[in-house]
Amino acid sequence: VPELPEVEFAARTLRRLMLGRRVLRVETDARARRIFRPDAPGALGRALTGARLQRVDRRGKQLLLTFAPGARPGGAARRAGPAPAGAIGVASHLGMTGKWTGGPGAPATGWARASFWLDDGAVVHYDDPRMFGRLRLVPGADFAALPEVAALGPDPVADGLDARALGEGLAATRRPVKVALLDQSLLAGVGNIHAAEACWRARLDPRRRADRLSPPEVAALARGLRATFRFALAKLDGPEIEYIEEGGDNPFHVYGREGLRCRHLGCGGVVRRLVQAQRSTYLCPRCQR
Ligand SMILES: [Zn+2]
Repeated sequence: VPELPEVEFAARTLRRLMLGRRVLRVETDARARRIFRPDAPGALGRALTGARLQRVDRRGKQLLLTFAPGARPGGAARRAGPAPAGAIGVASHLGMTGKWTGGPGAPATGWARASFWLDDGAVVHYDDPRMFGRLRLVPGADFAALPEVAALGPDPVADGLDARALGEGLAATRRPVKVALLDQSLLAGVGNIHAAEACWRARLDPRRRADRLSPPEVAALARGLRATFRFALAKLDGPEIEYIEEGGDNPFHVYGREGLRCRHLGCGGVVRRLVQAQRSTYLCPRCQR
């Protein structure tokens, strides 16, 4: 399931393939209504045909695309600038299986829910087999008007991670620290894998009450979060991405490693799996306290 690093990979893919390009034609999958809700699938093509992609931003797991509208027949010339009058926004959330792919003349897979033919001959596809993702038109590119964007806390990669602010957020909740980390209003983009990995790096038991961590523990957790994202982003250097659920390699240190030795040097513990808030958590009971 895509977390911050995978969504950052998608942002880089879109910048590489689509930034500055004009959309000549759009095809959408009429069966994928829930991806495009509240609009009908065809509305995306009507809004974006002739438009040019001007910005690709990422806030947590949200990709925010800003298009400048195409020149309308007999209309005034396009204005320049980051948010021109009549800008068209698209908020893209990858859900569980969403991916942006493409290239020059790239053929669609069976999972393409939207395909964009560009003025340089490239074709960009939004693939999503399970259709939990979203591609949502945002009039005027006013992303702050979307409740799911307005509610996001700081992005630990794009905005940097402030350990003091993290400590204040954790002090305000009695939930277990790993569950608290999944709250997107605390930090945007932390998901199940990186919450578990950060706790392991900080040698913190993920069941600890968030409001009872000491300042050095919060500082260790902040370091753990920075390190796990840096590690994951460094792995995403190829042109394609494979999610761990698709059989991709497991590069992680505790996630998905139940029954295997803890990777902390000299620990000798064995990784355990437990369930917190209906999600799998992995930890080393020996070194995570
Ligand atoms: Zn250990």
